[in-house]
Amino acid sequence: MLKIMTPGPTQVRENVRLARSLETTNPDLDLEFYDYYKDTCLLIGELLHTKNEVYILDGEGILGLEAACASLTEPGDKVLVIDNGVYGKGFADFVTLYGGEPELYSAEYTEDINISNLGSFLEKHHDFKYATIVHCDTPSGVLNDVSKICPLLHKYGILSVVDSVSGMFGEPLYIDESKIDIVCGGSQKALSAPPGLSFVTVSEAAMQIMENRKHPISSFYANILNFKNYYENKWFPYTMPISDIYGLRAALLNIKNDTSFQDRHKVIGDATRKAVQNAGLELYLKKGYSNTVSVIKVPEGINAKDILDIMKNQYHIMIAGSFDVMLGKVIRIGHMGENSNTEDVAETLDALTKTLMDLGVKLKGNLKEHFLNSLKELPKV
Ligand SMILES: *Cc1c(COP(=O)(O)O)cnc(C)c1O
Repeated sequence: MLKIMTPGPTQVRENVRLARSLETTNPDLDLEFYDYYKDTCLLIGELLHTKNEVYILDGEGILGLEAACASLTEPGDKVLVIDNGVYGKGFADFVTLYGGEPELYSAEYTEDINISNLGSFLEKHHDFKYATIVHCDTPSGVLNDVSKICPLLHKYGILSVVDSVSGMFGEPLYIDESKIDIVCGGSQKALSAPPGLSFVTVSEAAMQIMENRKHPISSFYANILNFKNYYENKWFPYTMPISDIYGLRAALLNIKNDTSFQDRHKVIGDATRKAVQNAGLELYLKKGYSNTVSVIKVPEGINAKDILDIMKNQYHIMIAGSFDVMLGKVIRIGHMGENSNTEDVAETLDALTKTLMDLGVKLKGNLKEHFLNSLKELPKV
């Protein structure tokens, strides 16, 4: 059996898989399902510290990003696209697709967004309807401090859209306190359910903007407004994937019942990064590390594909390369959700040590030993 240690999709616990095999009802006609859906949305809101509306959409994580842009953007709208990573920059495509005019605020891909630089920029340029920002930009693993960025945007009356698909749950996210208008999440990252679902949290202000548009939203499937009043009207825009939502609920409860979930992410993230550096390898980032994924530079003279192939074929562990501007330059270990445990990360680092040695890389000791030693110095979780 292959062990999945990629930064999403992640491993799926047995109780989540079993929940997906339960007998189902007709989710359009059975009124009880509307309560089940609503309770599941409330659970997401509780875990993400928001009283905003939450909607589960039937589509992989990308759907949430597209739905946010489709629902907010009107022709000619100016949108600030905060770009310090591949997903960050990618938002510009959705804005353009729906007739908006993206303006990129580009910063180094090797560190998190500097708040005071962004503040100075906003002082002079703040004529935007909304801004997009990625919480954890997974290809580089950079973590942006949305708890500082979004209140700053709010101060200038700019709505915020945050992609936290690979940040949420593993990293703290206080949506209401941080004044975030729309947050996008997905099932297959730290939540550790299979891919297939996205969800969005939507503030009152964002909902009003959608309702008071001059032009109708140019999409049906990506139209967030279609979900408004689903509960009162007992009507969903399309038939809900009931088995996926059973699985999602089980995965949410796994997190709710695991009181050290987020602390464990921090400890495992810290220890993994220390292990990488102590063994003489280099992290891609200079600062702004997410505890959900570690991104390691490919040592000179070897290539990423060989590392991934040996890891998979010889040691039966799947880690990931990266894409776009990071293609071939880095390898990534996803230690989020179910993957975030000492045994699996230790086994992965042991296999990575052997793989790199097979390829002729000189390391300072075994990554696994460094990892376990670092764990001894960190709080127990
Ligand atoms: C995984 C992910 C998504 C969802 O899209 P994919 O199709 O899995 O790429 C969106 N945003 C981020 C930051 C992600 O990590």
